[in-house]
Amino acid sequence: MDATQIARVADLLLVAQHAVALTGAGISTPSGIPDFRSGQAGLWKQHDPMVVASLAGFRASPQTFFGWFRGLARQMVEAEPNAAHYALATLEARGLLHSIITQNIDLLHTRAGSQQVYELHGCIRQLTCMRCFKQFPAAPFLKAYLDDPTMSVLTCPTPGCAGQGILKPDVILFGEQLPARVLAAAQREIRQCDLLVVAGSSLEVYPAADLPRRALAQGASLVIINREPTYYDQHARLVLRGDLVEVLPQLVSAVEARQAW
Ligand code: NAD
Repeated sequence: MDATQIARVADLLLVAQHAVALTGAGISTPSGIPDFRSGQAGLWKQHDPMVVASLAGFRASPQTFFGWFRGLARQMVEAEPNAAHYALATLEARGLLHSIITQNIDLLHTRAGSQQVYELHGCIRQLTCMRCFKQFPAAPFLKAYLDDPTMSVLTCPTPGCAGQGILKPDVILFGEQLPARVLAAAQREIRQCDLLVVAGSSLEVYPAADLPRRALAQGASLVIINREPTYYDQHARLVLRGDLVEVLPQLVSAVEARQAW
């Protein structure tokens, strides 16, 4: 990656009053979790999202959802935060990044130590019963499901549900509303930000993809770090085309070099 480009982003971060990062699946691909759209590994290359990952699909056939989710869940449970996640946590700890708005459901930002994380699409921390709406920590249920290949759905353990309530991970499926409080908080962050760094998102999924437009409309600078082009590239102050696992640690080094002066 061109050091001049990295240095320019470092300068923007150092003068920003309220910098925010918007992250997508691309920041977790170096942790072994495939994204949805790029290359052959893209999860949508093999499955129809409207069948496997929509709320209507889940209600119609939770078995189909859980059949598809098994591989992704295993990758997420086994994944560790990578250098890109740690770099963003370092920028926050140094007071240079106010928050992360993420489309990811894998918990890797919080596991890397980031404090202010808005999970727009939910996360795999909890499950909710579709019948009684009781919530459960996901870890023990996911472990049982991943250990037992014959388990086709997860069911609610409360006596009232008598094995009939299906547990759904608290991740936002197609056709489902985003968590209103998280979306409002993310929009508030965008209203306050003067620098938005988009890292590893195709910016094709709304309403997350609308956040850069809102940031631009109020005069914030936009930086895009992604392996592939996005629709927003032409509006960005800087576009860095590279692997986040290299670019973000280089950005931290550039910032630290400047702060040491
Ligand atoms: P996306 O799959 O649409 O786009 C990912 C982008 O990241 C692509 O443009 C790709 O070129 C880029 N990319 C991939 N690896 C990269 C790397 N190492 N360095 C730089 N760029 C890289 O993902 P999205 O925009 O986040 O939207 C997809 C939806 O997928 C979201 O709703 C999200 O909830 C969900 N999702 C989440 C995870 C996760 O939690 N890790 C994984 C897959 C999908």
